[in-house]
Amino acid sequence: MSKKIYDEDNIFAKILSGSIDCKKVYENDILLAFYDIKPEARIHALVIPKGRYIDFDDFVNNAPSDLQLKFFQGVSYIANNELKLQSGYRIKTNNGRGSGQEVFHFHVHILAA
Ligand code: AMP
Repeated sequence: MSKKIYDEDNIFAKILSGSIDCKKVYENDILLAFYDIKPEARIHALVIPKGRYIDFDDFVNNAPSDLQLKFFQGVSYIANNELKLQSGYRIKTNNGRGSGQEVFHFHVHILAA
């Protein structure tokens, strides 16, 4: 399998650099969360690491394990404490074009009815 290359011009890289605005939910030193521009549910937010990872496979295979833990604990924190989804939520990530992934900077969708 050929090595994938991170696209520096992807839309989430532009959000991270501040050249495109987002409706921010939460930010810390390793991640940023913001509302999806085309929500598929009453609550639809995206959580992205600040590091340059293309997709889920890239993140879980190449990010340091402490960063992965902090990221996924961050997703839980955001769902419960920032979005206040105590009654439940779904998380989703598309991995690769065939799955429907459109933006090639790893992200987790948080969805709630
Ligand atoms: P995926 O198909 O998993 O790559 O999801 C990409 C998501 O990013 C889609 O749900 C889009 O609606 C969302 N999206 C694209 N551009 C923006 C943007 N500028 N701000 C917020 N969400 C966006």
